[in-house]
Amino acid sequence: MTKIISLLITTWLMCLANQSPAQQMPLINYTVSVPQPATHKYHVELRTQGWNKDTLVLKMPKWMPGYYQIMDYAKSVENILIKDEKGKDFSFQRVSDNTLRISGIRSKTMILSYDVMTTKQFVANSYVDSEHAYLIPANSFFYVEEFLHLPVQVEIATTPWSTIATGLEPTNKANHFTVDNFDILYDCPILIGNLEVLPSFKINGIEHRFMGYKLGTFDKVDFMEKLKRTTEAAVAVIGDIPFKQYTYIAIGPGRGGIEHLNNTTVSFDGTSLSNAATINRMMNFLAHEYFHHYNVKRIRPFELGPFDYEKGSKTNLLWVSEGLSVYYEYLIVRRAGLMDERELLDNLEKNINAYENNPGRFYQSLTQASYNTWKDGPFGTQGDEPGKSISYYDKGPVVGMLLDFAIRHATQNKKSMDDVMKVLYWKYYKEKGRGFTDAEFEQTCEEVAGSSLARLFEYVYTTRELDYSIYLGYAGLKLEQVPTVGDDKKQGKKFTLGRIENPDALQMSILRSWQGEK
Ligand SMILES: [Zn+2]
Repeated sequence: MTKIISLLITTWLMCLANQSPAQQMPLINYTVSVPQPATHKYHVELRTQGWNKDTLVLKMPKWMPGYYQIMDYAKSVENILIKDEKGKDFSFQRVSDNTLRISGIRSKTMILSYDVMTTKQFVANSYVDSEHAYLIPANSFFYVEEFLHLPVQVEIATTPWSTIATGLEPTNKANHFTVDNFDILYDCPILIGNLEVLPSFKINGIEHRFMGYKLGTFDKVDFMEKLKRTTEAAVAVIGDIPFKQYTYIAIGPGRGGIEHLNNTTVSFDGTSLSNAATINRMMNFLAHEYFHHYNVKRIRPFELGPFDYEKGSKTNLLWVSEGLSVYYEYLIVRRAGLMDERELLDNLEKNINAYENNPGRFYQSLTQASYNTWKDGPFGTQGDEPGKSISYYDKGPVVGMLLDFAIRHATQNKKSMDDVMKVLYWKYYKEKGRGFTDAEFEQTCEEVAGSSLARLFEYVYTTRELDYSIYLGYAGLKLEQVPTVGDDKKQGKKFTLGRIENPDALQMSILRSWQGEK
């Protein structure tokens, strides 16, 4: 035994001796500081070494996953300096706004420093002011071309503030984080400020935190109790929690949120939470962002990973990733017992009315709306031809509901869209470790239903008008056009969604279990 151990140690030492620094993994260490927050700028320094090559190409992403628009983040990068450890300049070219080519790097330490100027408070870009710093990693850190897989260290140098909220993994060192690769780095925004941290809750032993900037005055105990029930209802759809900790990061008043693997950054103003309606709207929003950690981050279209940070990653399936997340946000809050059936139907009714009054429904299908969002804008309204696009945030949840009722009807209410989501999660994310194609999504729905859903998928691939009566009827529901009065007239047609009279046993059982009732 002793001889074997001694041989192993000798072999190990020989391996170490043969390993020159150039053969070790290159080190990539970023440090962020906010020396003068009132200037709306922050400073970034990259120290890197251990490269076994002469030239490095550094790129800043042009967009961030979750916000499918080209943002050209590098346009806000100023005062670039590249030096070695002795302060000697490296030769480099800024080949384009977001591309730096640096020569003579082999076996040397390179220190790249720059400032990032921020101008607009928004969930998808960095913003710094005298009270806080919201850092979007894609807006802050260059990646090394062809080396996205390398681990990165991030340190937040002294700031005027007390708290950091991020999904990045902390190390033993204060304000120091480590991350396995650039994809995860770009998935973890960093909020720094004198943040308020609400008492966390656990689901299946996993801690869920809510922390943020300028939360406002509201009943925080009641809010966290409702958020816990909402989060539990979201977990119940899939039944698995795939992270060690989750953080809701509230970035201050504004609009919009962006989902990530173990966190979400959300615009939030607690002072608006003064009645049940505004609280439920907030719970819908938070349920949507939370459910995204399944639907889009893990249950994902094939094209959404690995990401193309240069050109954007286009997919036909945002109607699933976004549209079904809207559908589930309502179901989750209903199943959490926070809204009643009427409020659930009101939410879906709004999507139906928005879709039915949009002339774009004759021009653009759900798959086209998904693919074209990069030019049409997030809600499909800013394209070259207004009125010729639709929003998958409206048609997506409506088609999702019809699909769910079709599956429930075909299986005598034994299966549902929840089962489709579970299969996609376990089969594609867990087993295959990849996203699903358009055909695989349709195939999964049909396998769960045990029958063809070709007619329903025409509502996905074409502009064919939706036949509500058949599918709503499966759940004992109906859509009726009603006369418009006053302000409603401006919107055009108005539809209401409600129960039919005298539903049969299957219709009632579908309607009840859809809402989470026994
Ligand atoms: Zn979303």
